[in-house]
Amino acid sequence: MVDPFILRELVDAYMRTPKHWEGRILGSMTTTPHPLACYAYVLFMHTNAADPAIFSELEKMKNEILSSLSRLYDSPCDTCGLITSGGTESNILALLAALKTVNNRSRVVVAPDTVHVSIDRACDLLGCKLVKIPVDNKPVDPSILEKYIIKYNPFAVVITAGTTERGLIDPVSRIAEVVKKYNVYLHVDAAYGGLLIPFLYKHGLINTNLRFYNGVSSISVDFHKNGLAPIPSGIILFSNDEYIEKICYDAKYTLHGRYCGLLGTRPGGSIPAIWILLKHLGFKYYEEQALRLHKLALYTYKKLLEIPSLEVYKPILPIIVFKHRDISSEIILDKLLSNGYYVYRSPSLDALRIVLMPHVKKEHIDEFVNVLKHVIEVSD
Ligand SMILES: *Cc1c(COP(=O)(O)O)cnc(C)c1O
Repeated sequence: MVDPFILRELVDAYMRTPKHWEGRILGSMTTTPHPLACYAYVLFMHTNAADPAIFSELEKMKNEILSSLSRLYDSPCDTCGLITSGGTESNILALLAALKTVNNRSRVVVAPDTVHVSIDRACDLLGCKLVKIPVDNKPVDPSILEKYIIKYNPFAVVITAGTTERGLIDPVSRIAEVVKKYNVYLHVDAAYGGLLIPFLYKHGLINTNLRFYNGVSSISVDFHKNGLAPIPSGIILFSNDEYIEKICYDAKYTLHGRYCGLLGTRPGGSIPAIWILLKHLGFKYYEEQALRLHKLALYTYKKLLEIPSLEVYKPILPIIVFKHRDISSEIILDKLLSNGYYVYRSPSLDALRIVLMPHVKKEHIDEFVNVLKHVIEVSD
């Protein structure tokens, strides 16, 4: 029998924890996971995804997931990929696979300076030098990228389809054209944008698509962002089996004989969680969700433009960046926090950022805009 006072403490801590559905978590790329995915996760809580010999059902589900995503992104390989703990691990694995494949060069990675901080971390871990191209928060220009490739002779280039601070999409197809001339590994970090871009592109709402153009070596996408899976649910897809071989290691004591990827024992629940989401909701659902969030982003943009003292950046993906012309972003951030609102920073623009994740509704935006107006009034 558990001491009821301990349970009480547990529930109290839960009650004090912000919930996405209250509509005040507006900066983080996390959301309420889908109940069916949570059920699948808990049902398979005892499983270890690193051991496909004992837990072979996970392996079957994993291959079905990879196969669906390969179709979404037109991958040349049907089941080349791994389920990871998220975008950070996927990025580390991409660069590890790249380093072990293209090993006749300097240990340099070239990327626009809009890349996610996990690329800095990956380079730190792998002993690489990250050369950043200053892009002034615009998609990288392929001809400038080419100059960097010629100058630095990198083993890998990383671009982003949905940047963290601004939601920019680097021109994937044109960069693939450039990179393939130099036989460089190209990783596309679509941790955030991967389940938005193909659908928004299809409807003509953005002009850059995300797919395995000839020259793209890997694409990463997080299912714990717009995919509604519980954390940790990341995916990395490779264009070729060989890359996976580079990141597999013998573990002869196990039944399967080897471990692939970065972690050892790892949660098995993420795989059935993603699997059931793809079966039950399917891409059709993600498509409708992307359209809804796009519409809500334009609505939010319009509402913020009505506050004359704000500078607001037009959203591409459902990320809205804004700053006040006189009051510092840090002051506004603090005041929003004391009103129970969690927004994030967009440091390179000295601005604040809200990300419209699946839990955000129009009413939440209306409430937020009212609070923001109040915060501005009392700070002026
Ligand atoms: C979220 C994100 C990451 C990091 O992913 P985690 O799941 O937090 O490890 C990497 N790159 C981009 C572009 C992201 O949006």
